[in-house]
Amino acid sequence: MAEETRLIRAGAAPKSLAKTVGPPIQKGSTVLLPNAEALYDDEGFITYGRQGLAAHDALRDALCGMEGAEGVCLYPSGLAALTGAMLAVLKAGDEVLVTDTIYKPTRRFCDHVLKRFGIGVRYFDPRESPEDLVAGAGAATRLIVMESPGSLSFEMQDLAAVARLARARGILTLADNTWGAGYLIKPLAQGVDISVQALTKYVGGHSDVFMGSAAASDPTLVGQLENGITHLGWAVAPEDAYQMLRGLRTLPVRLARQGKSGLAIAAWLREQPEVAEILHPALPGCPDHDLWARDYVGACGLFGFVFKPGADGAVNAFLDALDLFGLGFSWGGFESLAISCDPQLHTRKHRRDYGGPLMRLHIGLENAEDLIADLRKGLDAFRSA
Ligand SMILES: *Cc1c(COP(=O)(O)O)cnc(C)c1O
Repeated sequence: MAEETRLIRAGAAPKSLAKTVGPPIQKGSTVLLPNAEALYDDEGFITYGRQGLAAHDALRDALCGMEGAEGVCLYPSGLAALTGAMLAVLKAGDEVLVTDTIYKPTRRFCDHVLKRFGIGVRYFDPRESPEDLVAGAGAATRLIVMESPGSLSFEMQDLAAVARLARARGILTLADNTWGAGYLIKPLAQGVDISVQALTKYVGGHSDVFMGSAAASDPTLVGQLENGITHLGWAVAPEDAYQMLRGLRTLPVRLARQGKSGLAIAAWLREQPEVAEILHPALPGCPDHDLWARDYVGACGLFGFVFKPGADGAVNAFLDALDLFGLGFSWGGFESLAISCDPQLHTRKHRRDYGGPLMRLHIGLENAEDLIADLRKGLDAFRSA
């Protein structure tokens, strides 16, 4: 053979691999099939790399176990998991009910894409009773989308009650479970049909990889989700799947540490004269604490608080005085972050007066006393602004 042909044939995948602790990072768009019949045997063989290879399979298996799911689908981001799961089960003429505290990019998708394709969208008050919520569903209502605790303001829904009432009406339920990370609560065990999370956050845990997952127990629904991905043509990189699997190994210890620091810092903040209210369902005395205590085995490091009204610019003075807290929108990594929230609240339909500016903190793996000292510096700047 000529050298150009030898170069094409060289370096093929080995027949047997040494056994490492994690899966191989198998890369491939083309998958070579063993014989002619296998070419069209979609049941028996992976026929194309987009379906995922060794690292994807290992990650899906691990997530299935964690979520208690029959099947888990992987998406290129958390937002893609939410949009992909919705597109997989909705059609023109349907209506979807969405919590008003939904992650804002999900809301943009509902308003700009779903509506354009003839799907009705209604936003419900995050604390509407499950009975009123489901009673308010119409003949066209196909799906209820929850996020508990909700983005920025942390209101909770009773997932089990909504799921039970919705199922009796033939309505599907979906929960964005990014706060719970698939670990602190099991939405499928609560009766929710589709559990979605941004793996980008706590599962990845290092603020450097995007991915999302959707998990379901019902095999028909798993098939619908899988078809949704096939039809849209999404794929995730094997390196990223491997990174997510690596994140899973330390998820429980990171959550335990970040949850504990978060509660200690929230309790400290509650005593500070500049702070009006803490929005952290895991902190006793906070809104929705009973619901959290009933359903969750722990907390993550994300919560909010409300300032007492201050001078113009006081909120920015607080943020700019922080050294250990970065100013950034994602969360779930090893580092502490802070954002002001008020500019994001205007799009909400059921707007609540929180009584002062709203701040969101993500507590990382730094020493909690160091973080408290940093926050005290910020609060001093807030007061003297
Ligand atoms: C970040 C986030 C997402 C989106 O995840 P990406 O991977 O950044 O697309 C979805 N839901 C919630 C609640 C989030 O916080």
